[in-house]
Amino acid sequence: MTKKLSIVVPCYFEEESIPLFYKAVEEIKGQLNEIELEYWFINDGSTDNSLKEMQALQKADPEHVHYVSFSRNFGKEAALYCGLKEATGDYVTVMDVDLQDPPAMLPEMLEILETSDYDCVGTRRVDRTGEPPIRSFFARMFYRLINKISDTEIVDGARDYRLMTRQMVDAILSMSEYNRFSKGIFSWVGFKTKYLNYENQERVAGQTSWNFWSLFKYSIDGIVNFSQFPLDIAAFIGFISSVGSGLAILFIVIRYLFHGDPTSGWASTICIMLFIGGIQLFCLGIVGKYIGKIFTEVKNRPVYIIKEKK
Ligand code: UDP
Ligand code: MG
Repeated sequence: MTKKLSIVVPCYFEEESIPLFYKAVEEIKGQLNEIELEYWFINDGSTDNSLKEMQALQKADPEHVHYVSFSRNFGKEAALYCGLKEATGDYVTVMDVDLQDPPAMLPEMLEILETSDYDCVGTRRVDRTGEPPIRSFFARMFYRLINKISDTEIVDGARDYRLMTRQMVDAILSMSEYNRFSKGIFSWVGFKTKYLNYENQERVAGQTSWNFWSLFKYSIDGIVNFSQFPLDIAAFIGFISSVGSGLAILFIVIRYLFHGDPTSGWASTICIMLFIGGIQLFCLGIVGKYIGKIFTEVKNRPVYIIKEKK
């Protein structure tokens, strides 16, 4: 029986890339022997012609091409989740539509899954060419930090581009959390993953939807979603400062008993009060970040809303 490979493709303002992507995958189709392809294009609320391009592909190849269109932009994580849910294949791959994830790697990835006991073949970039140096620097720092403070391993340079078995996809789908950080989720579910290295590819068309600020927020989300270490820091700072000030009070009382009470040190008192107040706000902010996550999680809203599907 021929097996089926589902290709999940999140798209956000990608009208130029969509047909190029389809063409590129069709070109390597011959190398995937005995495999039937199934495309799931997810239109993540783009208002350009992305949906029209998907509809055109679907008309031309109704047996293999499917698409889902969201009611608004829900973000790539939501689009990935939706695609994994819709996919029916024995194998599922998630790919960016901008051809930064080379389809030419698919035959090798498939070969590995079929001939070994790996459950997943991931890809990682060995270099970050074409990226601003400051961004690479912060990216490296992020991976170092999160791997120190999280039990879940987040592989540096790993792309979302990966090929998974049905079993692993089902495991990912069982994690129905609202705050989705795929890099963590892929790793959290476990299974055996092999990483293939490849050189960074430039986008084929359009432009990236990430800027420095959005990447920064994304990394904070990653940390909050997969580590409770910031809470430990808050508790630690609180503990140290209360022990410290307890000792200081003791010192002052003893000094008063021996030397009387010259009223001095007003400025230093205010400074210390402000300092402690600042630390308290900082810790409260950390706690608030987690409460915010809990809040969105308990509201239990859908991760995405579908407007159209075929
Ligand atoms: N994307 C999406 N929703 C978003 C942002 C991006 O579905 O809100 C898609 C986008 O169309 C692309 C993939 O996610 O297929 C990766 O985005 P991008 O190329 O902008 O990121 P980069 O490759 O620069 O990390
Ligand atoms: Mg890209």
